[in-house]
Amino acid sequence: MNITVWNEFRHEKKNQTVADIYPDGIHQVLASFLKTEGTTVRTATLDEAEHGLTDDVLNNTDVLLWWGHVAHDEVSDEIVQKVQQRVLDGMGLIVLHSGHFSKIFKQLMGTSCDLKWREAGEKERLWVIDPAHPIAEGIGEYFELEQEEMYGEHFDIPAPDELVFMSWFQGGEVFRSGVTYKRGNGKIFYFRPGHETHPTYYNKNVQRVIQNAVKWAAPVKRERPVYGNAQPIETLKGE
Ligand code: ZN
Repeated sequence: MNITVWNEFRHEKKNQTVADIYPDGIHQVLASFLKTEGTTVRTATLDEAEHGLTDDVLNNTDVLLWWGHVAHDEVSDEIVQKVQQRVLDGMGLIVLHSGHFSKIFKQLMGTSCDLKWREAGEKERLWVIDPAHPIAEGIGEYFELEQEEMYGEHFDIPAPDELVFMSWFQGGEVFRSGVTYKRGNGKIFYFRPGHETHPTYYNKNVQRVIQNAVKWAAPVKRERPVYGNAQPIETLKGE
């Protein structure tokens, strides 16, 4: 299993609060808890050549994680096209937090992906909505993050294939915080937590969800379906 963690890596360089929480970048913390026996984890960031997502990297990635926020527009359309094609070909994609507004997520969803938000460091309670789902394995009935940014409905996404988590916030809003989709041969999981000024990716429940999601999103080994004009499999009448 080859995992690539992509991070915009801008807040960490400009904001001391974020740098104190993630001194080597959010991507390094994500990578650290995804490294297990039999997995290769690499990282890629916006300011690298081709955003670190060369053809070689993309073609050798089974699951790609995506964290971005202030620089979505700086991601090249060409790379977005390549990532989309890899998803259609079977690569798993896990979109985190403010990645809801990334070019790749909006393109795959086909909707605005807009939502309500508030930065007040309030409590978030994430409820498991789909207890049989492998992404929820090892998670209790719910878990809490003491301080997070609020994301509230309405979240302008297509109806998810599966709703795994639903969040409640101290201010009263709710949000579909863990949702799955399939696009082509690929699997997509969007997971809400992870505002950069809170130490969310150190939380053991958050880490477990992301570990589970990577396993779930791993490609199924098969070719893309064959489309277009087709020869009959059986002999047709009159031949
Ligand atoms: Zn945020």
